[in-house]
Amino acid sequence: MGREERLVSIEEGLFFVALDDMELPPDMAEGGWLATSLREFYKETKLPELCVARLRANAIRVPYLYLNANDYIYRFRAEKERNRKVYQVDDTSVALYHSALCDAIKAVKRAKERSATSPARLDFGAAEYLLPSHFGFCLGVQNAIERAYETLAANPGKRVFMLSELIHNPFVNQDLQERGLKYLQSDKGVPVIEEATGLPYWEGLSDQDIVIIPAFGARDEDKLRLIERGLPIRQYDATCMLVEKVWKAARRYGQQGYTIVIHGKAEHEETKATFSNSAKYAPSVVIRDMKEAAQLGEVILAETKEDKQRLFAPFVSRASVGFDPSKDLDRLALVNQTTLLRNETLKIIAYLEETLTAAYGEAHITEHLAMSSKGDTLCYATQVNQDALAKALDEDIDAAIVVGGKNSSNTFQLFRLCQERFGDRAFYIQSEGNIRSKSEVEHFIFPYDPKNPKQGGMETRPFLPEKERVRVLVTGGASCPDGILQQIIARINGFFPEDRVRSVESVLAEIE
Ligand code: SF4
Repeated sequence: MGREERLVSIEEGLFFVALDDMELPPDMAEGGWLATSLREFYKETKLPELCVARLRANAIRVPYLYLNANDYIYRFRAEKERNRKVYQVDDTSVALYHSALCDAIKAVKRAKERSATSPARLDFGAAEYLLPSHFGFCLGVQNAIERAYETLAANPGKRVFMLSELIHNPFVNQDLQERGLKYLQSDKGVPVIEEATGLPYWEGLSDQDIVIIPAFGARDEDKLRLIERGLPIRQYDATCMLVEKVWKAARRYGQQGYTIVIHGKAEHEETKATFSNSAKYAPSVVIRDMKEAAQLGEVILAETKEDKQRLFAPFVSRASVGFDPSKDLDRLALVNQTTLLRNETLKIIAYLEETLTAAYGEAHITEHLAMSSKGDTLCYATQVNQDALAKALDEDIDAAIVVGGKNSSNTFQLFRLCQERFGDRAFYIQSEGNIRSKSEVEHFIFPYDPKNPKQGGMETRPFLPEKERVRVLVTGGASCPDGILQQIIARINGFFPEDRVRSVESVLAEIE
């Protein structure tokens, strides 16, 4: 039997078919096999509770059985395989995704996908812009977007859902929705209600529907719900391979006997998916930042079992079932949410090294901390956007604009770098629509500090100074389409008399 047409034997002797697309291989169909969703199968066979539990525990493996340990669900497409046309079908999508300026910068400044170079200067006369060599869409996002538009185009009569937001950008998500894409749940996991029935879309899903898994990946619980309803998940799984790389690292460390510490935000979809994967192989716990690393350090250094239990209490809701702080914190490996600041991750690893050295002695540190986990699960695309921005931070500028969705973690990390350097002259916005005038901009306060009552809201701040010529730094997070950056430049240029602003064509000719 070929790899694609398998009959799966499960330890307990139960058998079921990998119905990736609910179509049986011909030899099975001829042999009298029927394709049926697992949910129907439970009902028809009236299996005892215990058997259902075993089936459920194994079902998630089935669609991915075609993969070997080192294979990826979905590899980035090479440039020549990309199909940009699917999402540049009309003026709206061209305005959203296309920017002649950004294309020119990328062509000139990105000799290498993974290494940052000096920023590009766009001299429009009254305003000069600095754009880092790397900004905007990463390969994972680019691939997921193209897949979503392709799936919509290829399945005109079907309902096409995204498990949750495809990426953290409201304009991309809105454009997809207007072209027919629906969402099953919000980025916080809240089910979306179907207007016509008043019921969650989840309830009415059938094997005639398609659900795309976004670049962040998905929790096993969600995948299982899709499998049980008979939906194919393998061919619509757009999990970014750099997210999957984190899952593979967690599995490897788990198999080596380490507990997995996930540096990430417990409420973020990617971290939830990583936790779901990691907890299958090892005790796992999520920590948010250095402060929480220090709290975990106190647990490690506590002397009694009772003290460890007490100090671990804040982590229980973010730890795997049965996590025992008395024994599960003595061998640690750290993996990340891919989009965090590298320095912060490295600080946390250094801190854990110090703490475990204090607990077990320097001679034994390599037994207690996976030393190869030094930030190697951070995404290079996030890192290169940060490195490229860092090369522009020495410049003297009047405003630094960072563009991205309100729930975009990597955009916030870019903003943090700008804020550290430029203070209140750094702005986090979603589009040119947030620039109210030459003197006012609506800045988004990212929800990071729970003590800040303004977090999660917009705040009007002073924007550009009254000067003959302004210098503005502009960059976008990994989910920011190029078109928005160009529209921001056009919006700012519009504040100056026409005769003092050079044309896009003349600026394009000068990019070097
Ligand atoms: S930011 Fe990195 S990990 Fe996330 S989708 Fe993009 S390439 Fe993948």
